[in-house]
Amino acid sequence: MLILVSIFAIILGAVLGSFGNVLVIRMKDGESIRGRSHCVTCKRQLRASELIPIASWFMLGGKCSSCGKEIHWQYPVVEAAMSVLTLVAFLRYPLDLNFDLHTLGLIGFEIALGFVILVATVFDLRWKLVPVEFIVTSAIVLAIWRILLGTPWLELVMGAVVVSALLGAIVFLSRGTMMGEGDPFVGLLMGAVLGFPLALLGVLVAFVIGGSVASALLIERAVSRKTEVPFVPFLAAGTMIAFWWSAPLLVIARYAML
Ligand SMILES: [Zn+2]
Repeated sequence: MLILVSIFAIILGAVLGSFGNVLVIRMKDGESIRGRSHCVTCKRQLRASELIPIASWFMLGGKCSSCGKEIHWQYPVVEAAMSVLTLVAFLRYPLDLNFDLHTLGLIGFEIALGFVILVATVFDLRWKLVPVEFIVTSAIVLAIWRILLGTPWLELVMGAVVVSALLGAIVFLSRGTMMGEGDPFVGLLMGAVLGFPLALLGVLVAFVIGGSVASALLIERAVSRKTEVPFVPFLAAGTMIAFWWSAPLLVIARYAML
């Protein structure tokens, strides 16, 4: 049973990941989602055998079979990452044959959240941009999803307002040197899915990780103080960590406030 569910989760994740890859490319180019995938360099349409997530990239040796141009690492990495996120989502809930609707809703929510977070991260890494429309739409859909699962709506609205305002203030006060203008929208998403006060803990985790990585890079002289380091990956990590470990984080926060 566990093995069957795991295989299903990994395949589902890989398929979602390859859809995520298409989204990352086409939201940038403004192309429609429909139409078959093609090589970004020579525009040749891909054959069915070249559309298998992860496996195709390795079979092709990371190169397009007609023009020989390298296929970006983004493709296999996103597919593999989405497989892991989907597998984790399934394994975090009790596994038996009678998945009830509520459990399925929770698993589905977690997969959808992972998908949105992953797409936003890769988008920022590749284009140094935040797909604002995609983020805001996803925030609304995911918030409604959580409310249907029983989270009080006020908690989510408060989270969205507080976190987006906080990140907005940081952008304004630092004149965009600490973060980009798109990051408060990711804060809105964090608030709307994690709720108040958990979302604030997620931001804190993001700053701790981001700060550590930035200092390490500065020490290694891999970046200068002026290099723009994309911040969405850290917000993404903070979101998933706060979501997965909400209970212990909230306990620590309560003790810290005493
Ligand atoms: Zn090609």
